[in-house]
Amino acid sequence: MADRKIRVRFAPSPTGPLHIGGVRTALYNYLFAKHHGGTFILRIEDTDQTRYVDGAEDYIMDSLEWAGIKVDEGVREGGPFAPYRQSDRKEIYHRYADELIRKGDAYYAFDPADELERLRQEYESHGETFNYGCNSRMNMCNSLTMTAGEVEKRIASGEHYVVRYRMPENEDIHFSDLIRGDIVVNTSTLDDKVLYKSDGMPTYHLANIVDDHLMEISHVIRGEEWLPSLPLHVMLYRSFGWEAPLFAHLPLLLKPTGKGKLSKRDGDKMGFPVFPLYWPYGETASGYREEGYFPEAFVNMLALLGWNPGTEQEIFTMDELIAAFTIDRVGKSGSRFDPDKAKWFNARYFHMKSDEELADLFMPQVREKGFSPDRATLVRIVSLVKERAAFVKDLWHEADFFFMAPESYDQNVVQKRWTADSTGQMLSLREKVAGVHPFTAEVLEQSVKEWITSMGYNTGAILNLFRLLLVGASRGPHLFDIAAIIGREETLSRLDNGMVRLS
Ligand code: GLU
Repeated sequence: MADRKIRVRFAPSPTGPLHIGGVRTALYNYLFAKHHGGTFILRIEDTDQTRYVDGAEDYIMDSLEWAGIKVDEGVREGGPFAPYRQSDRKEIYHRYADELIRKGDAYYAFDPADELERLRQEYESHGETFNYGCNSRMNMCNSLTMTAGEVEKRIASGEHYVVRYRMPENEDIHFSDLIRGDIVVNTSTLDDKVLYKSDGMPTYHLANIVDDHLMEISHVIRGEEWLPSLPLHVMLYRSFGWEAPLFAHLPLLLKPTGKGKLSKRDGDKMGFPVFPLYWPYGETASGYREEGYFPEAFVNMLALLGWNPGTEQEIFTMDELIAAFTIDRVGKSGSRFDPDKAKWFNARYFHMKSDEELADLFMPQVREKGFSPDRATLVRIVSLVKERAAFVKDLWHEADFFFMAPESYDQNVVQKRWTADSTGQMLSLREKVAGVHPFTAEVLEQSVKEWITSMGYNTGAILNLFRLLLVGASRGPHLFDIAAIIGREETLSRLDNGMVRLS
């Protein structure tokens, strides 16, 4: 194992949109691979055609691409072990199922589905569960209980069958997980899982093991929900005589309440996305990309949900994550997903961006609103309002008054500030403003303040009124910056309109 090349895979089933827990699994595989100079493989596990969902496969690949998780070998990328979609590898699995049967580690079973269902219900009515395994297999309809001739006849006549793994009886299997440590399971607690079906499709277990072997996977890093399958997988490696990869089962992502697994249904119900991208099919679901998250912030947030760097550092670029990531710093217990923390990460990345970058991201939204400021002006506007924002989409709300005169005036402010003297004061302010040269924030501020003092007015009261007429409310950045950016004409016109409408 020591000299084995590091090759890991993310092996999702295209059964719907990829949950953020799945993206985290992909991310940890990717970080692990890159940390060791290894290869990250994307394998699509679509052997269960009944659960196949159109669009899901592209969704998975687009999600990884958006998140900056680069696939080295996969369906789109190709690679030396192609094909990477299991339904395109159908012929491969048959001979491995045969091999296990030849070795006596698997057998044909012909039990009709309704008979199995009847047994399940019968057991259930006694408060027990029916297991197809060492205690029951010799009473069932399979190649262990019938002659070779009978088996052949049934298969030749096209009868539906499955191939089941013959789990040995009462044997302790020892194996270890890089996160969970050593585990012992007694085989008598395990049933004879179906590996292959006569329709030519393997089940997850067989295809997964065969492909991990053929694709020379060195480490299997996957969600904790697959831990119960691990004993069977270990047994399959043993039956085939293959060296098993090392395993690491990642703890669950928990709901924001900390109770229970974060499920696909939680997100929109609780007011945050649980998917990386918007899911447009059937029951639609929101995504981090469309909510305006930066992929770097999203990835940074996910990386720290279950892994810790052992330092106080919270902000990591992808390269820093690659350098710092080790499996031994992945925790054993579930990580509570915190949507506020996700926003916090986005805010941090938002504020790390330059005014120019943010302005370029903001420009399309401004254009969509019907305005086309020059870039320098927008950069200036962004520099004034970005403190109050955490997303590019917040910027419009913080900056709309740079583009549009107020349509209404905040009634609370009007009631508090607008008095019988206000019109006169604003008229006089208007005269002052009309004569300021050059019309810059500094000169304007100095002249207006001097005028306020010379008139004996209260500075706060006058500036609040001025702001009310320019913005329509008591929000926004430095007043004189607003006036300078919208310009003299617009400032005068807003003063005029305000006086008419409020007097
Ligand atoms: N196809 C399985 C899934 O959907 C893969 C589990 C594994 O990584 O072995 O998660």
